Amino acid sequence: MSQKARWIDWDQQRLTSHFGVDPHRGLSMSDAEKRLHHVGRNQLVEGEKISLWALFLDQFKDFMVLVLMGATLISGLLGEYHDAIAIIAIVILNAVLGFVQEIKAEKSLAALKKLSAPGAKVLRNGEWNRIDAADLVPGDIVALESGDRVPADLRLLRADNLYLEESTLTGESVPVNKSAETLAKADLPIGDRKNMVYMSTMVVRGTGTGVVVQTGMETEMGRIAHLIQHTESSETPLSRRLEQLGKILIVIALILTAVVVITGIIHGHDAYKMFLAGVSLAVAAIPEGLPAIVTIALAMGVQRMIKRRAIVRKLPSVETLGCATVICSDKTGTLTQNKMTVTHTYLDARVFELESSQLNSETWKRMIEIGILCNNALLQRKPAKKLLKRKQDNWKVDGDPTEAALLIIGAKQGIWQDELLHDWTRVKEFPFDSQRKMMSVVYQHRDGRQVIFAKGAPDVLLDRCSHQMQRGKTSPFTLAHKRSVSTMNERLASMALRNLAFAYRELGNASERQLSEGQIERNLTFVGLVGMIDPPREEVRGAIQRCRQAGIRTVMITGDHQATAQAIAHQLGIIRPQGLTVSGSDLYNMSDKEFQHKVEEIDVYARVSPEHKIKIVQALQAKGHVVAMTGDGVNDAPAIKAADIGIAMGKSGTDVSKEASSLVLADDNFSTIVAAIEEGRSIYDNIRKFIAYLLASNVGEILVMFLAMLAGLPLPLVPIQILWVNLVTDGLPAMALGVDPAEGDMMQRSPRNSRESVFARGIGWKIITRGLLIGFWSLAAFLVTYYEAPQNLSLAQTVAFATLVLSQLIYVFDCRSTGSIFQRNPLSNIPLVLSVILSVVMLLVVIYYPPLQPIFHTVSLGLREWILICVTSTLPVILAGLVDQVRIVQRKLQLGR
Ligand code: ATP
Repeated sequence: MSQKARWIDWDQQRLTSHFGVDPHRGLSMSDAEKRLHHVGRNQLVEGEKISLWALFLDQFKDFMVLVLMGATLISGLLGEYHDAIAIIAIVILNAVLGFVQEIKAEKSLAALKKLSAPGAKVLRNGEWNRIDAADLVPGDIVALESGDRVPADLRLLRADNLYLEESTLTGESVPVNKSAETLAKADLPIGDRKNMVYMSTMVVRGTGTGVVVQTGMETEMGRIAHLIQHTESSETPLSRRLEQLGKILIVIALILTAVVVITGIIHGHDAYKMFLAGVSLAVAAIPEGLPAIVTIALAMGVQRMIKRRAIVRKLPSVETLGCATVICSDKTGTLTQNKMTVTHTYLDARVFELESSQLNSETWKRMIEIGILCNNALLQRKPAKKLLKRKQDNWKVDGDPTEAALLIIGAKQGIWQDELLHDWTRVKEFPFDSQRKMMSVVYQHRDGRQVIFAKGAPDVLLDRCSHQMQRGKTSPFTLAHKRSVSTMNERLASMALRNLAFAYRELGNASERQLSEGQIERNLTFVGLVGMIDPPREEVRGAIQRCRQAGIRTVMITGDHQATAQAIAHQLGIIRPQGLTVSGSDLYNMSDKEFQHKVEEIDVYARVSPEHKIKIVQALQAKGHVVAMTGDGVNDAPAIKAADIGIAMGKSGTDVSKEASSLVLADDNFSTIVAAIEEGRSIYDNIRKFIAYLLASNVGEILVMFLAMLAGLPLPLVPIQILWVNLVTDGLPAMALGVDPAEGDMMQRSPRNSRESVFARGIGWKIITRGLLIGFWSLAAFLVTYYEAPQNLSLAQTVAFATLVLSQLIYVFDCRSTGSIFQRNPLSNIPLVLSVILSVVMLLVVIYYPPLQPIFHTVSLGLREWILICVTSTLPVILAGLVDQVRIVQRKLQLGR
């Protein structure tokens, strides 16, 4: 007999006493803590962690660093110790920077992982609470519902229509029906252990509770954990494309470098110097750090998103966010507050407003009874001695807000859940899911009667009713009655109310009690309706408007009634003047072609089931849209996966939907999606900004050297100066561009085309023009100084060095705008200003600090030189900015005409 299977033939009594737990109160907090200390956290041990040393040494494996190390060695061998020390210092500095960045990225990824850690609903000290699944211990009582990932290995104590998908463990994808019954024998294969559920398998239907028997690596999953461990790569399409681009640039840079070196040698330059110049130039010209900086910019953006309550699960989706053209959003909880309050009821053929009516009829009491019993929320009364001012403060409700609202209505009428449960014991549940849009429960009264209580969407439940209750009496439910109830339902729904119908039936003989879901929920007696308000979230209207300005359409998809959906969509400004509303059944009857034809006009989908969502995603995608789609239930997972950006709800979403998603909303709020899109656009813009900066700088650096060599001039920059520019001048401001605040008009532009090149919209033009200008003017500054004092080459080189550095540091402000440099206040990015100041100070240190002068081949500069440097570094960017400005004004005039 397998050791792991020993609990399956124990009865529940033996099981709970073995684990020392009261099944009605759970473990005590202190006991749970002790156990946690003893057995450890409920986690699968991850693969070996890479040590800090290994991470640091990794930095030296880069190809370019190896080339530099080779250069150091050669310099050393030739006795050029100054060069060797300077290069090695730069290599180490580079490694430290890379190391720090990597640790930062790792930390943010770990934080992300923590945020998306699974939870578990556990009973401790007699209260149900949600805790981190890692804190579960053997003996804990855990509740399961559809959409949950099972958090540990459990032996079931209760199972209602519970189905699990265990393919991760057994390979079998057909859901298995579980039960809480004790099995006769213990040596059964996993697939047949009906009263056990295992960590990482998924609840696809029903509810249940169980006692934790194994946690962490002791679970069945733990035993095979090493087989399934995998790390998700953080590579994004953009970093992949940049890597390819990098490869092309490497080839170009190497060719140009070879030309520079060869022409230099032909013109009589020293071979060693030319070799070092070639190495430095190659290192400086190749944007090897680009993919890394992209990853860092994405990771920092992800951190900013977390602050705005959007948790990115897949890094590439940050890029896609900026391309979104349609957001398909659920209604309840995302667009609305999910704070349900019952305001109206329809019974005994009349509508009552609860605020102003005193209801006391038999029918009303029966309806409340059904509402309380056919309910999985929990109402806890506060101790009476704490007499509180408001009635609401006397209780606390946990669970689905729709159901909680029903418990509260009961409590207000003095009908309490705990009192009803004295008389009634639950026998069976046929759970709610958004496909069936109803639920029912079978209860047994103390006197032996069994009754089925049902509640659900009126249009679904009415079809299952054959009788009705009016003024305490039952009578046949005629077609005419049904019609008038439907009319009332429509009327309440058009007031933006969410409606529920209630029904029941006494179960007679034993055979009737054994009926299945489809058969037992028939011939019910209709009792009445309630309508509840769920006010829209206040900030959503504005967010929808902002989306519209940004060229993004918002579509509402809801399981609720068409009239309710339409009323809320109107309040929120989702429906456009010619916008259509369609229902799930309309969709069902439409061919794919017809649907695609209409999809652009539809703003609201009502009474849809999860399987319709995927049809909607596909139709929109076929029209070329980039679709963001929200979902929370287990059945939403396929649509979330199919969407370009799958979005799950952090609070109300199931584990399964979260796993399928690329973005999780910590507050379930629609506005958070818009915030994430804003961040996504801004991150992409920033990536383009530093690409523009780095590449133009590289073009400038190569050009100075290239032109000088072609013209047979002396070297305008010494190798160590080039390495300095590459590390300090290029590195720091580029990082600061990564956190640049968004441009004001960012959310007034239409979404970017997902196939667009990073060089589109002016960036390629900027790189070439600014690169040429920077290179050309640095060379000009060099030439002017050189021809004035040909004997003092170091002076001319220092001038060229300072010009190159300064013109890049001015150009960095130009990169912040898609228009011209004058369009943005330079002080709006303080980190950038600071990094520029720091770079200038470091430049001055290198030029004026005597011990560094021989290393960097610099000499102190006078006022004359500084005037020349300032003019040659400022003019090109300013002139180019003026040209841009003129072009912008011209375009505006043309548009205005
Ligand atoms: P959304 O998809 O926007 O979240 P929703 O939450 O209104 O919409 P569902 O939860 O699928 O959609 O609910 C659909 C219908 O089912 C509701 O209009 C309501 O009539 C009924 N319903 C909702 N919750 C329950 C429940 N707990 N028990 C019985 N019926 C319910």
